[in-house]
Amino acid sequence: MNETVAGTVRDLRQGIARGIGDDRFQTWFGDKVQIELEDGKVRLQVASRFVGEWIGTNYVPAIEAAYEKICGAKPVVEILLNGAARSTQRAGAAVPARRDPPKRIQPDRVTDLASLTTFVVGRSNELAYTTARRAVEELSEPYRPLLIHGGVGLGKTHLVQGICRAVQREHPLLTCIYIRGEDFTNQFIAALDAHNEQNFRDRYRNCDVLIVDDIHFLENKRATQGEFLYTFKAIQESGKSRRAIILSCDRHPRLLSLAPPLQDRLGSGTVVEIHPPDLETRKEILRRRASAYRREVPEAVVDFIARNVAGNVRGLDGAFYRLIAVAALNPGPITLPLAQQALYDLVTDPKRALTVESIEDAVLARFGINRNMLYSAARDRIVSGARSIVMYLVRKHLRLSFPQIGRLMGNKNHTTVLVAARRVEEQLTRDTPITVKSANGFVDASSRILVAELEAELGCSAS
Ligand code: ADP
Ligand code: MG
Repeated sequence: MNETVAGTVRDLRQGIARGIGDDRFQTWFGDKVQIELEDGKVRLQVASRFVGEWIGTNYVPAIEAAYEKICGAKPVVEILLNGAARSTQRAGAAVPARRDPPKRIQPDRVTDLASLTTFVVGRSNELAYTTARRAVEELSEPYRPLLIHGGVGLGKTHLVQGICRAVQREHPLLTCIYIRGEDFTNQFIAALDAHNEQNFRDRYRNCDVLIVDDIHFLENKRATQGEFLYTFKAIQESGKSRRAIILSCDRHPRLLSLAPPLQDRLGSGTVVEIHPPDLETRKEILRRRASAYRREVPEAVVDFIARNVAGNVRGLDGAFYRLIAVAALNPGPITLPLAQQALYDLVTDPKRALTVESIEDAVLARFGINRNMLYSAARDRIVSGARSIVMYLVRKHLRLSFPQIGRLMGNKNHTTVLVAARRVEEQLTRDTPITVKSANGFVDASSRILVAELEAELGCSAS
């Protein structure tokens, strides 16, 4: 997609968000719904039938109005389910369920691929980024798969789509396919149903560069795993001088439950992790967003948002888009008070401000130990009690996975975290006493009261 079209899509998204309200936009469109423009058509690709129907029933007028404002004419709005044409409809009409078999779109016809040039590089993702760039530059190097893993919203899709675009630009003669694990699975099943496996195989086994996003989707799908293993081998053993397999995954391949031969192959190449963005990276992402939207966003506002939205980039984007939407309704420049007002819930909703560090601080203070002890190998009762409570609270209120918590807490194994969190649950069921520090030295406290007090102090509900 050229830059003008990309710009129009951005403006259109912004226009729709303004029309229906940013919260609703985030809920129904977010970045899950892909928007493409073609010959006066606005094509939306949705991941579920329900979302498609909802958008079709409720938001077509808003989409038309936003498009008309930008392009001066009413578009035809088309909604596709998972890349398959399911419905074409006019203004305001509900999406009719079509009985004829869905038309498959070409899996690499993703015209809205993210680009490496808009990917902000910082400490948290530098290794993943440089490895990805190298993968593109050194396609001719001895063959090794690259797997990028990390939590939701950290930029995996952006990065691997960027690789795809870069390969297409820098190696125009190579066939490079970007496909989501989910689509690979669905297409394979559809090919089986239609007795059309050969086309599917030719397509994937003969490509030069295969990029599969969210490979974890193949978990528990044995037939697809088998097919993917053959695809993998075919590319690996193709003897072509330039070839690559690049994958993204929500966790380390060791933690996947896949058929062993596939699992071995996934872990056999370069495995790099993307971490949550640090403060500087978050600020830079916001500055880039502001300039892409040609909005003057003062540094104080950038700092305010970046400090209050940790975690992932998606949250950061949500806050930014809301600010832009609110600013559009207010004449004058974007100011800190305006941002604070638009994003009031970022600071007044304590749950959002809750971080691993704030939980650690509260627990450390209650147990009377310092941070170094928390991460040491010490097995003493007080330290391990404190560690378990931190893990329990992080799991319960931040909803991180066990492996993520393990990594954040001194590289502990995920089973250690799981066992610790379970132990605290048991202690709470029986109200087993836990030793903590009080004004009079160490005392045994009721585990229920202790946890309730910590939760109250942290501002998170006890439920
Ligand atoms: P993931 O696939 O890891 O869940 P995405 O790639 O979908 O995450 O990223 C979520 C959003 O954040 C996307 O809009 C993406 O463009 C943006 N994003 C993530 N990381 C970066 C980055 N380093 N620079 C710029 N944008 C980013
Ligand atoms: Mg993704």
